[in-house]
Amino acid sequence: MRATLLYKAGDVRIEDVPDPVIEQPTDALVRITASCICGSDLWPYATMAAHDGPVRMGHEFIGVVEDIGSAVTTLRRGDLVVAPFSVSDNTCAFCREGLHTSCTDPQADLWDGLAEEGGQAEAVRVPLADGTLVKLPVAADSALVPSLLTLADVLGTGHHAAVAGGVDEHTGVTVIGDGAVGLLSVLAARRLGAEHIVLMGRHGTRTELGREFGAAEVVSARGAEGIAAVRELTGGHGTHVVIDAVGSMPAYEQALGVVRRGGTISRVGLPQYEQAPVGFGSLFRHNIRLAGGPAPVRASIDQLLPDILSGAIEPGKVFDATTGLDGVPAGYQDMADRNSLKVLIKP
Ligand SMILES: [Zn+2]
Repeated sequence: MRATLLYKAGDVRIEDVPDPVIEQPTDALVRITASCICGSDLWPYATMAAHDGPVRMGHEFIGVVEDIGSAVTTLRRGDLVVAPFSVSDNTCAFCREGLHTSCTDPQADLWDGLAEEGGQAEAVRVPLADGTLVKLPVAADSALVPSLLTLADVLGTGHHAAVAGGVDEHTGVTVIGDGAVGLLSVLAARRLGAEHIVLMGRHGTRTELGREFGAAEVVSARGAEGIAAVRELTGGHGTHVVIDAVGSMPAYEQALGVVRRGGTISRVGLPQYEQAPVGFGSLFRHNIRLAGGPAPVRASIDQLLPDILSGAIEPGKVFDATTGLDGVPAGYQDMADRNSLKVLIKP
Protein backbone atom coordinates (compact mmCIF):
# COMPACT_ATOMS: atom_id res chain seq x y z
CA MET A 1 0.00 0.00 0.00
CA ARG A 2 1.00 3.63 -0.29
CA ALA A 3 1.80 5.86 2.65
CA THR A 4 3.25 9.26 3.52
CA LEU A 5 6.77 9.40 4.93
CA LEU A 6 8.68 12.40 6.22
CA TYR A 7 12.39 11.94 5.58
CA LYS A 8 13.54 15.27 6.94
CA ALA A 9 12.40 18.89 7.04
CA GLY A 10 10.78 19.77 3.73
CA ASP A 11 11.05 16.21 2.38
CA VAL A 12 7.70 14.38 2.26
CA ARG A 13 7.40 11.31 0.02
CA ILE A 14 4.62 8.93 -0.96
CA GLU A 15 6.04 5.42 -1.02
CA ASP A 16 5.00 1.79 -1.14
CA VAL A 17 5.18 0.21 2.31
CA PRO A 18 4.16 -3.24 3.56
CA ASP A 19 0.40 -3.69 4.03
CA PRO A 20 -0.53 -3.50 7.71
CA VAL A 21 -1.50 -6.79 9.35
CA ILE A 22 -3.20 -7.72 12.62
CA GLU A 23 -0.40 -8.07 15.19
CA GLN A 24 -2.32 -8.07 18.47
CA PRO A 25 -5.77 -9.56 19.20
CA THR A 26 -6.92 -6.03 20.10
CA ASP A 27 -5.96 -4.58 16.69
CA ALA A 28 -8.20 -3.57 13.81
CA LEU A 29 -7.19 -2.96 10.21
CA VAL A 30 -8.78 0.14 8.74
CA ARG A 31 -8.90 1.14 5.07
CA ILE A 32 -8.63 4.92 5.19
CA THR A 33 -11.29 6.86 3.29
CA ALA A 34 -10.51 10.38 4.55
CA SER A 35 -7.43 11.83 6.21
CA CYS A 36 -5.74 15.20 6.47
CA ILE A 37 -2.62 17.20 7.19
CA CYS A 38 -2.42 18.79 10.64
CA GLY A 39 -0.91 22.11 11.61
CA SER A 40 1.22 20.16 14.09
CA ASP A 41 2.65 18.12 11.16
CA LEU A 42 4.20 21.40 10.04
CA TRP A 43 6.57 21.46 13.05
CA PRO A 44 8.55 18.34 11.98
CA TYR A 45 8.08 19.41 8.35
CA ALA A 46 9.93 22.60 9.29
CA THR A 47 12.58 21.19 11.61
CA MET A 48 13.08 17.39 11.56
CA ALA A 49 16.67 16.21 11.15
CA ALA A 50 17.45 13.48 8.58
CA HIS A 51 18.69 11.07 11.30
CA ASP A 52 15.22 11.11 12.88
CA GLY A 53 13.54 9.90 9.68
CA PRO A 54 11.90 8.49 7.77
CA VAL A 55 8.69 8.43 9.84
CA ARG A 56 5.11 7.68 8.80
CA MET A 57 2.82 10.68 9.02
CA GLY A 58 -0.81 11.40 9.83
CA HIS A 59 -2.88 11.16 13.00
CA GLU A 60 -6.40 12.10 11.86
CA PHE A 61 -8.48 9.70 9.79
CA ILE A 62 -11.80 8.13 9.01
CA GLY A 63 -11.99 4.69 7.45
CA VAL A 64 -13.72 1.36 7.05
CA VAL A 65 -12.88 -1.58 9.31
CA GLU A 66 -11.45 -4.31 7.07
CA ASP A 67 -10.45 -6.84 9.71
CA ILE A 68 -10.40 -7.22 13.47
CA GLY A 69 -8.33 -9.18 15.96
CA SER A 70 -9.88 -11.98 17.99
CA ALA A 71 -10.33 -9.82 21.12
CA VAL A 72 -12.14 -6.92 19.43
CA THR A 73 -15.78 -6.91 20.54
CA THR A 74 -17.38 -3.58 19.60
CA LEU A 75 -16.44 -3.33 15.90
CA ARG A 76 -17.29 -5.32 12.80
CA ARG A 77 -15.98 -5.44 9.25
CA GLY A 78 -17.57 -2.66 7.23
CA ASP A 79 -18.01 -0.22 10.15
CA LEU A 80 -17.09 3.39 9.37
CA VAL A 81 -14.91 4.72 12.18
CA VAL A 82 -13.03 7.83 13.22
CA ALA A 83 -9.74 7.61 15.12
CA PRO A 84 -8.63 10.20 17.69
CA PHE A 85 -5.01 11.34 17.38
CA SER A 86 -4.03 9.10 20.27
CA VAL A 87 -4.46 5.39 20.88
CA SER A 88 -6.14 4.53 24.18
CA ASP A 89 -7.91 1.61 25.85
CA ASN A 90 -10.84 3.73 27.10
CA THR A 91 -10.87 1.65 30.31
CA CYS A 92 -7.86 2.57 32.49
CA ALA A 93 -8.10 4.98 35.43
CA PHE A 94 -7.07 7.98 33.33
CA CYS A 95 -9.38 7.15 30.43
CA ARG A 96 -12.27 6.82 32.88
CA GLU A 97 -11.45 10.34 34.07
CA GLY A 98 -11.60 11.56 30.48
CA LEU A 99 -7.83 11.90 30.05
CA HIS A 100 -7.35 9.43 27.21
CA THR A 101 -4.10 11.10 26.13
CA SER A 102 -2.58 9.83 29.41
CA CYS A 103 -3.81 6.24 29.00
CA THR A 104 -1.59 3.79 30.90
CA ASP A 105 -2.06 0.79 28.60
CA PRO A 106 1.39 -0.29 27.30
CA GLN A 107 0.09 0.00 23.71
CA ALA A 108 -1.33 3.50 24.24
CA ASP A 109 0.52 6.26 22.44
CA LEU A 110 0.06 9.24 20.20
CA TRP A 111 -0.13 8.17 16.55
CA ASP A 112 2.88 10.45 16.05
CA GLY A 113 4.76 8.25 18.52
CA LEU A 114 4.14 5.14 16.37
CA ALA A 115 6.85 5.50 13.73
CA GLU A 116 5.53 2.50 11.72
CA GLU A 117 1.89 3.64 11.56
CA GLY A 118 0.23 6.71 10.17
CA GLY A 119 -3.07 8.06 8.92
CA GLN A 120 -1.86 9.65 5.68
CA ALA A 121 -1.95 6.29 3.95
CA GLU A 122 -4.27 3.82 2.28
CA ALA A 123 -4.63 1.69 5.41
CA VAL A 124 -3.51 1.48 9.02
CA ARG A 125 -3.25 -0.96 11.90
CA VAL A 126 -5.15 0.45 14.88
CA PRO A 127 -4.00 -0.80 18.29
CA LEU A 128 -6.56 -1.08 21.11
CA ALA A 129 -9.31 -0.80 18.49
CA ASP A 130 -12.23 -1.10 20.92
CA GLY A 131 -10.92 1.80 22.97
CA THR A 132 -9.53 3.97 20.20
CA LEU A 133 -12.07 3.86 17.37
CA VAL A 134 -15.51 5.42 17.41
CA LYS A 135 -18.17 4.15 15.04
CA LEU A 136 -19.84 6.76 12.83
CA PRO A 137 -23.52 6.43 11.86
CA VAL A 138 -23.07 7.61 8.27
CA ALA A 139 -21.76 6.23 4.96
CA ALA A 140 -18.13 6.73 3.89
CA ASP A 141 -19.23 9.13 1.14
CA SER A 142 -21.44 11.26 3.42
CA ALA A 143 -21.22 15.03 2.95
CA LEU A 144 -20.62 15.19 6.72
CA VAL A 145 -17.23 13.44 6.45
CA PRO A 146 -15.11 16.64 6.52
CA SER A 147 -16.82 17.78 9.71
CA LEU A 148 -16.66 14.30 11.24
CA LEU A 149 -12.93 14.16 10.44
CA THR A 150 -12.37 17.18 12.71
CA LEU A 151 -13.43 14.97 15.64
CA ALA A 152 -10.06 13.23 15.26
CA ASP A 153 -8.17 16.28 16.40
CA VAL A 154 -8.87 19.90 15.59
CA LEU A 155 -12.49 20.21 16.79
CA GLY A 156 -11.79 18.14 19.90
CA THR A 157 -8.68 20.21 20.54
CA GLY A 158 -10.61 23.48 20.23
CA HIS A 159 -13.25 22.05 22.57
CA HIS A 160 -10.58 20.99 25.07
CA ALA A 161 -9.02 24.46 24.92
CA ALA A 162 -12.35 26.05 25.75
CA VAL A 163 -13.22 23.55 28.51
CA ALA A 164 -9.74 23.71 30.10
CA GLY A 165 -10.03 27.49 30.08
CA GLY A 166 -13.40 27.31 31.85
CA VAL A 167 -15.42 28.97 29.08
CA ASP A 168 -19.07 29.55 29.91
CA GLU A 169 -21.73 32.15 29.16
CA HIS A 170 -20.04 34.69 31.44
CA THR A 171 -16.62 34.58 29.85
CA GLY A 172 -14.85 36.73 27.34
CA VAL A 173 -12.36 34.77 25.28
CA THR A 174 -9.30 35.69 23.22
CA VAL A 175 -8.11 33.07 20.74
CA ILE A 176 -4.52 33.45 19.52
CA GLY A 177 -3.95 31.87 16.11
CA ASP A 178 -6.08 31.56 12.98
CA GLY A 179 -5.09 28.01 12.01
CA ALA A 180 -7.68 25.24 12.12
CA VAL A 181 -7.32 24.76 15.89
CA GLY A 182 -7.64 28.49 16.55
CA LEU A 183 -10.75 28.78 14.38
CA LEU A 184 -12.33 25.71 15.95
CA SER A 185 -11.46 27.06 19.39
CA VAL A 186 -13.65 30.02 18.43
CA LEU A 187 -16.41 27.64 17.35
CA ALA A 188 -16.06 25.59 20.54
CA ALA A 189 -16.06 28.66 22.80
CA ARG A 190 -19.17 29.94 21.03
CA ARG A 191 -20.81 26.53 21.36
CA LEU A 192 -20.19 26.68 25.13
CA GLY A 193 -21.87 30.09 25.23
CA ALA A 194 -18.89 32.47 25.45
CA GLU A 195 -20.16 36.02 25.82
CA HIS A 196 -17.55 37.71 23.63
CA ILE A 197 -14.75 36.29 21.47
CA VAL A 198 -11.73 38.12 20.05
CA LEU A 199 -9.68 36.29 17.41
CA MET A 200 -6.03 37.27 16.95
CA GLY A 201 -4.98 36.38 13.42
CA ARG A 202 -3.75 38.07 10.32
CA HIS A 203 -4.96 35.96 7.39
CA GLY A 204 -8.11 37.56 6.01
CA THR A 205 -9.85 34.48 4.63
CA ARG A 206 -9.21 32.62 7.85
CA THR A 207 -10.38 35.34 10.19
CA GLU A 208 -13.54 35.67 8.06
CA LEU A 209 -14.24 32.02 8.85
CA GLY A 210 -13.46 32.86 12.48
CA ARG A 211 -16.20 35.49 12.41
CA GLU A 212 -18.57 32.95 10.91
CA PHE A 213 -17.67 30.56 13.75
CA GLY A 214 -18.48 33.22 16.36
CA ALA A 215 -15.67 35.76 16.79
CA ALA A 216 -17.10 39.23 17.42
CA GLU A 217 -13.78 40.97 16.83
CA VAL A 218 -10.60 40.27 14.90
CA VAL A 219 -7.22 41.75 15.84
CA SER A 220 -4.56 41.36 13.18
CA ALA A 221 -1.76 43.16 15.04
CA ARG A 222 0.73 41.12 17.08
CA GLY A 223 3.01 41.82 20.04
CA ALA A 224 2.54 45.01 22.08
CA GLU A 225 0.29 46.51 19.43
CA GLY A 226 -1.95 43.45 19.35
CA ILE A 227 -2.10 43.33 23.15
CA ALA A 228 -3.10 47.01 23.28
CA ALA A 229 -5.82 46.41 20.68
CA VAL A 230 -7.35 43.50 22.62
CA ARG A 231 -7.23 45.48 25.87
CA GLU A 232 -8.96 48.38 24.17
CA LEU A 233 -11.73 46.06 22.98
CA THR A 234 -12.20 44.62 26.48
CA GLY A 235 -12.46 47.73 28.65
CA GLY A 236 -8.74 47.68 29.37
CA HIS A 237 -8.93 44.41 31.29
CA GLY A 238 -8.29 41.64 28.75
CA THR A 239 -10.38 38.46 28.69
CA HIS A 240 -11.14 35.79 31.29
CA VAL A 241 -9.90 33.05 29.00
CA VAL A 242 -7.04 33.20 26.51
CA ILE A 243 -6.59 30.22 24.20
CA ASP A 244 -3.10 29.82 22.75
CA ALA A 245 -3.55 27.78 19.58
CA VAL A 246 -0.03 28.49 18.31
CA GLY A 247 2.53 27.31 20.86
CA SER A 248 5.36 29.76 20.19
CA MET A 249 6.95 31.96 22.86
CA PRO A 250 5.59 35.15 21.23
CA ALA A 251 2.10 33.60 21.42
CA TYR A 252 2.58 32.85 25.13
CA GLU A 253 3.77 36.41 25.75
CA GLN A 254 0.74 37.67 23.87
CA ALA A 255 -1.47 35.49 26.07
CA LEU A 256 0.13 36.97 29.20
CA GLY A 257 -0.57 40.41 27.78
CA VAL A 258 -4.29 39.92 27.15
CA VAL A 259 -5.38 37.67 29.99
CA ARG A 260 -7.66 39.31 32.56
CA ARG A 261 -6.75 39.34 36.25
CA GLY A 262 -7.91 36.02 37.70
CA GLY A 263 -8.16 34.56 34.23
CA THR A 264 -6.86 31.41 32.58
CA ILE A 265 -4.41 30.85 29.74
CA SER A 266 -5.36 27.61 28.02
CA ARG A 267 -2.68 26.22 25.73
CA VAL A 268 -3.35 23.71 22.98
CA GLY A 269 -0.67 24.78 20.51
CA LEU A 270 2.34 22.49 20.98
CA PRO A 271 4.77 24.59 23.10
CA GLN A 272 8.04 25.21 21.31
CA TYR A 273 9.72 26.10 24.63
CA GLU A 274 10.33 24.61 28.09
CA GLN A 275 11.21 27.89 29.83
CA ALA A 276 8.55 30.59 30.17
CA PRO A 277 7.54 33.31 32.66
CA VAL A 278 5.37 31.87 35.45
CA GLY A 279 6.50 33.99 38.43
CA PHE A 280 5.22 36.96 40.40
CA GLY A 281 5.21 39.44 37.54
CA SER A 282 3.57 37.15 35.00
CA LEU A 283 1.05 34.71 36.52
CA PHE A 284 1.22 34.88 40.30
CA ARG A 285 0.50 38.54 41.09
CA HIS A 286 -2.99 38.47 39.58
CA ASN A 287 -4.02 34.85 40.14
CA ILE A 288 -3.64 33.84 36.54
CA ARG A 289 -3.91 30.14 35.82
CA LEU A 290 -2.12 28.12 33.17
CA ALA A 291 -4.08 25.20 31.70
CA GLY A 292 -4.20 22.98 28.65
CA GLY A 293 -2.26 20.16 27.05
CA PRO A 294 -2.85 17.46 24.43
CA ALA A 295 -6.61 17.19 24.03
CA PRO A 296 -8.20 13.89 25.07
CA VAL A 297 -10.41 14.11 22.00
CA ARG A 298 -11.72 10.57 22.51
CA ALA A 299 -13.54 11.91 25.58
CA SER A 300 -15.43 14.63 23.70
CA ILE A 301 -16.53 12.79 20.56
CA ASP A 302 -19.77 11.63 22.16
CA GLN A 303 -20.64 15.25 23.05
CA LEU A 304 -19.64 16.83 19.74
CA LEU A 305 -20.89 14.19 17.29
CA PRO A 306 -24.62 14.98 17.70
CA ASP A 307 -24.04 18.65 16.85
CA ILE A 308 -22.31 17.64 13.60
CA LEU A 309 -25.00 15.12 12.68
CA SER A 310 -27.72 17.72 13.30
CA GLY A 311 -25.88 20.41 11.32
CA ALA A 312 -25.72 22.71 14.36
CA ILE A 313 -21.96 23.10 13.74
CA GLU A 314 -19.95 22.74 10.53
CA PRO A 315 -16.32 22.45 11.62
CA GLY A 316 -15.44 20.83 8.27
CA LYS A 317 -15.36 24.33 6.78
CA VAL A 318 -11.71 24.48 7.88
CA PHE A 319 -10.83 22.25 4.91
CA ASP A 320 -10.10 24.46 1.93
CA ALA A 321 -8.30 21.94 -0.26
CA THR A 322 -8.68 18.24 -1.12
CA THR A 323 -6.08 15.94 -2.66
CA GLY A 324 -5.19 12.31 -3.26
CA LEU A 325 -2.01 10.84 -1.77
CA ASP A 326 0.04 12.07 -4.74
CA GLY A 327 -0.79 15.66 -3.77
CA VAL A 328 0.23 15.29 -0.12
CA PRO A 329 3.82 16.61 -0.45
CA ALA A 330 2.49 19.73 -2.20
CA GLY A 331 -0.23 19.95 0.45
CA TYR A 332 2.40 20.17 3.19
CA GLN A 333 4.13 22.98 1.33
CA ASP A 334 0.83 24.79 0.69
CA MET A 335 -0.01 24.67 4.38
CA ALA A 336 3.50 25.74 5.35
CA ASP A 337 3.21 28.67 2.92
CA ARG A 338 -0.24 29.51 4.34
CA ASN A 339 -1.79 28.98 0.90
CA SER A 340 -4.02 26.26 2.35
CA LEU A 341 -5.64 26.29 5.79
CA LYS A 342 -6.11 22.53 6.06
CA VAL A 343 -5.78 19.86 3.38
CA LEU A 344 -8.20 16.93 3.21
CA ILE A 345 -6.75 13.71 1.81
CA LYS A 346 -8.77 11.09 -0.08
CA PRO A 347 -6.28 8.20 -0.27
ZN1 LIG B 1 -6.61 4.22 29.12
